[in-house]
Amino acid sequence: MTISLTDMTADAQAAVRRITTTVPIGKVRVGSCQPIVVQSMTNTDTADAKATAKQVAELARAGSELVRITVNTPEAAAAVPEIQRRLDMMSCEVPLIGDFHYNGHQLLQQVPECASILAKYRINPGNVGFGRKRDDQFATIIEIAMANEKPVRIGVNWGSLDASLLARLMDENAALDKPSDASVVMREALIRSALDSAEQAEELGMAHDRIILSCKVSDVQDLISVYRELAARCDYPLHLGLTEAGMGSKGIVSSTAAMAVLLQEGIGDTVRISLTPEPGQPRTDEVVVAQELLQTMGLRAFSPMVTACPGCGRTTSTYFQSLAQDVQGYVRRRMPEWKVEFDGVENLSLAVMGCVVNGPGESRHADIGISLPGTGEAPVAPVFMDGKKHSTLRGEALTEDFLGLIEDYVRNRYPRRFPTN
Ligand code: SF4
Repeated sequence: MTISLTDMTADAQAAVRRITTTVPIGKVRVGSCQPIVVQSMTNTDTADAKATAKQVAELARAGSELVRITVNTPEAAAAVPEIQRRLDMMSCEVPLIGDFHYNGHQLLQQVPECASILAKYRINPGNVGFGRKRDDQFATIIEIAMANEKPVRIGVNWGSLDASLLARLMDENAALDKPSDASVVMREALIRSALDSAEQAEELGMAHDRIILSCKVSDVQDLISVYRELAARCDYPLHLGLTEAGMGSKGIVSSTAAMAVLLQEGIGDTVRISLTPEPGQPRTDEVVVAQELLQTMGLRAFSPMVTACPGCGRTTSTYFQSLAQDVQGYVRRRMPEWKVEFDGVENLSLAVMGCVVNGPGESRHADIGISLPGTGEAPVAPVFMDGKKHSTLRGEALTEDFLGLIEDYVRNRYPRRFPTN
């Protein structure tokens, strides 16, 4: 029997969500019983509206439900309307989030269209200003957000922590009979910076359900400690992510190690995997990793899952590896159209197995599975659908034939969202 991932997702989510606050960001809802939202960030020069709109659209097409762009200069702020115009022309409806540091209060005042187009403002309390200016500049951003009915994320960062707050907490700690370790004070400063700024925003009139918090660090254990404490002390939706995850497998593993623990405890309402792209690596990889993290945890379903065996001495051929890659590539390419056309197709499960040992069994557990011949086995590949043997493939067209069966299965199994004539 196939277990519906939709049912698993609902059960898992009901079991783990911890807050009742929901924050609207454009058409997206974050918090309470809403699905955990995937977000990403561009790395183009925002002032280059053409390149930025293109990358935003690519990230959205890959599945990013919110896309953040840096708004760091007057030119970048002035480009936001053109970016939105280009996205509208591409029918790309993803909410744009503006990332502000140092001069957000000025840019949002100077370019009112930027303030009205962005769906959310990210404010870093450590980079808003210093002394009295800090409070005034923070208040300016909050007032503009309220005037434009925009939510904010108060995003504290380890690398740009409010220095005066940290110094004060360090002094208070030093005066104690038994001072805590400096790392404990540092974590407390991160949390206090977020909570104090949120309180300040509410005192200025911002609604409680227009605030999201984050406290990003780059160490896995620190991230877990900080977010557990933050979650225990507030009911704002939380954005999760390591501030600098790193490159390649290190970035993926460290992000997953930290976020999986927190998500399992019901902590986290939006996620971003801050991968450092290797030269030539698509920016969209951070979206794919975030989706795979949520899907493998049973928290959401985005795209058909392909189960593939690791291979061993029972198969000397790498054919099953290429087939698994071809199948994964095919469903990723087809998903943008499938998900518009077929209801529930993201729950499709596929298996590509290397030999008879686990091949038929694993294939029967998937919606469609294929068991390739291992060493010494007859050169045929049985295909299983819905737990039953369906057919046997062989010969040079095996890959094309299997992809054809997947396409037929999708068309026959999932109801069309818009019935055809
Ligand atoms: S299914 Fe066969 S080839 Fe794949 S890992 Fe298991 S024994 Fe090895």
